[in-house]
Amino acid sequence: MGKKGKEIVKLDVDELLKTLNKAFADEWLAHYQYWVGAKVAVGPMRGAVVAELVQHAADELRHADMLTERIIQLGGKPLLAPSDWEKHTNCGYLVPSDSSVKALLEQNVEGERCAIVTYNKILEMTKDKDQITYNMVLEILADEVEHEEDLEALQEDMMAAKGMF
Ligand code: FE
Ligand code: FE
Ligand code: MG
Repeated sequence: MGKKGKEIVKLDVDELLKTLNKAFADEWLAHYQYWVGAKVAVGPMRGAVVAELVQHAADELRHADMLTERIIQLGGKPLLAPSDWEKHTNCGYLVPSDSSVKALLEQNVEGERCAIVTYNKILEMTKDKDQITYNMVLEILADEVEHEEDLEALQEDMMAAKGMF
């Protein structure tokens, strides 16, 4: 990467790259979990839930893209094999074997809560040390906070609808 661009990072760059690659693994797994969940979903309010899952799948892929750009900028390489994602992930992958919208929402909320904790830690790590990564992670964290809320709102809607029948 650029000489000055690297000099202004007041962190161990190798450690930072490891951290960013772990988040990168999370994003691919989250992307796929949403993407495949939207395909197999069944049950009440399927249309509304699928629309949200599809939107979130796109957001997670965009996050993976942002992380890759920064990893490469810092002189690193994104994890090159999908088998590495499961090895390095923080938040894991929850197999949507129960494809009811209720189960899918529960799994995805759990994933978002893990993402929020993970990105909050990276923010603390990069604060006043690497402004570029900090700003990027802040943007991603804001999306994850929104995702959690979106999913919780759907869960509430489902509960409310249930009471009407
Ligand atoms: Fe994400
Ligand atoms: Fe998310
Ligand atoms: Mg949304």
